[in-house]
Amino acid sequence: MGKMRACLCWCSHLLAIFAAVSVAAGRNPQTSVQTSQPSPAAPQRVRGQGEPTKAEILRGAYGTYRANNDLLFYHLDIRIDPAKKLVSGKNTIRFKMLQDDTRIQLDLADTLNIDKILLDATPLHYERDSGAVFVDFPYTLRSGSVYSIDFYYSGTPVQTGRFGGFTFGTDPSGHPWIYTACEGIGASIWWPNKDQWRDEVESMQISVAIPNDLVDVSNGRFQGKTDLGDGYTRWDWLVHYPINNYDVSVNIGNYQHFSDKMGDLDMDFYALPEDLEKARKQFSQAKGMIEAYEHYFGEYPFKKDGYKLVEVPYSGMEHQSAVTYGNHFANGYLERDWTGVGISPRFDFIIIHESGHEWFGNSVSAADPSDMWIHEGWTTYLESLYVEYMYGKDDAIKYLNGYKPKVKNDRPILTLRGVNGEPPADQYFKGVLFINTLRSIVDDDARWWKLLHDFYQHFKYQNIMTDDVVQFFNQQTGMNLTPVFDQYLRHTAIPTLELKFDTAKSTVSYRWQADEPMFQMPIRVGKKDNWQVLRATSDWQTTRTSVNKDDFEVATDLYYVNVSKP
Ligand SMILES: [Zn+2]
Repeated sequence: MGKMRACLCWCSHLLAIFAAVSVAAGRNPQTSVQTSQPSPAAPQRVRGQGEPTKAEILRGAYGTYRANNDLLFYHLDIRIDPAKKLVSGKNTIRFKMLQDDTRIQLDLADTLNIDKILLDATPLHYERDSGAVFVDFPYTLRSGSVYSIDFYYSGTPVQTGRFGGFTFGTDPSGHPWIYTACEGIGASIWWPNKDQWRDEVESMQISVAIPNDLVDVSNGRFQGKTDLGDGYTRWDWLVHYPINNYDVSVNIGNYQHFSDKMGDLDMDFYALPEDLEKARKQFSQAKGMIEAYEHYFGEYPFKKDGYKLVEVPYSGMEHQSAVTYGNHFANGYLERDWTGVGISPRFDFIIIHESGHEWFGNSVSAADPSDMWIHEGWTTYLESLYVEYMYGKDDAIKYLNGYKPKVKNDRPILTLRGVNGEPPADQYFKGVLFINTLRSIVDDDARWWKLLHDFYQHFKYQNIMTDDVVQFFNQQTGMNLTPVFDQYLRHTAIPTLELKFDTAKSTVSYRWQADEPMFQMPIRVGKKDNWQVLRATSDWQTTRTSVNKDDFEVATDLYYVNVSKP
């Protein structure tokens, strides 16, 4: 079955935040990527907000002509001409029909040409509607049967979006540097596919023909290269696992390669010649990262494909098994203390964050961009797990609470389904604070570690929605956490703990103020190191306290809540 999956290191979100801030290193071509963004004055539509457009529905809905088939395999076989800025070739698409039908929906940006679509040797008719391509068959495709079509296309992909989508660039020494980063915008901006998150191929071949003097790094296991005799060499890669469309990438440049091993895991690294020594030093952090995440969740998910880090001019992206990296070979995030509490400068944010997506985003994936917190909230939490593994719990709690000033609480983390929605950056920052809150509710670290491990193992290589997450946590904990999940993910506001003190009686009254009527959550209050647990609900309750109002604390670093203490 095509697994459902998804991700984006909407590190584009992060990048967007940074777009307003000038990048320290002028050398980095990323600067040009950032300055090419629309000015703040230009009205920018947020996907999934307001009335969806027809194009958004075509792009985002899992409609009839998508749901009637299940993807099995892609072979993307293309030639890229850097001088002419031209991409041409085909995608062979193998799928199983789930219903009898004569039509399926694929997607390709309307700026690219469709040269022909063949079923064996038979040209197929098709109809284009914005980015959608409805392919019609001359006879009824039968449920349960497997079909394969060759979708030929050509053109110059439009450079778009925060990371460029598809960029024909040059490196600082003038060599071509061509790369893709299309999460959000979608892979159909540069190759034809079924461009949605629910259904993934089970495996994929990627063949990229490029001028002889360049290197292509794509996803999966390198199969070899073939000199085509016309100045071009074809690089062949095989992805042994399900893969999100937007993770599929080409990185073409004057790369130098070095490798390492971690047990039987192959690690391959690609950097420009002038950055090679810096890369050797900085990329050594990948081992500690894999050790930490394997400790909490289990084996690196894409072992047959190996783990790769590939230098690019934008900050980074979680391209499956070929994570792209542009963090200046320095710790922190673009040379900044990302959560502002002195811990981020101890490690390379892009290596730790983007690689964390191998577990959450690439292995466990969301089935619709509306639920992308499954990628970003969880991967941001993985950053804090890396800190906990390396430096201990106190630093982890401190690190993740450093995200608080970034939270906006101006719209819910979950967005409208079926419109290729774009969740707010709170999916990262509020997401990690929410998951840390869940840990405090569970209030038993041994149990929490087992829960995390089992959660990942249960859903690995699957595409899921928030309801699946909630159901799993409810089942495993025996608690009804639905109102808690709903409050943090489906509402704008976080819960407020209301406190009223009666000094004469040495009591405190307490209740939750929340949008969810059934919201209840235990919380630690009183004095640090000697917390008292309140089983607070939305109804007023009263308890004795020896701590007076001014000294009365709430463990807000363990629970992401507001406190009202009038
Ligand atoms: Zn991310």
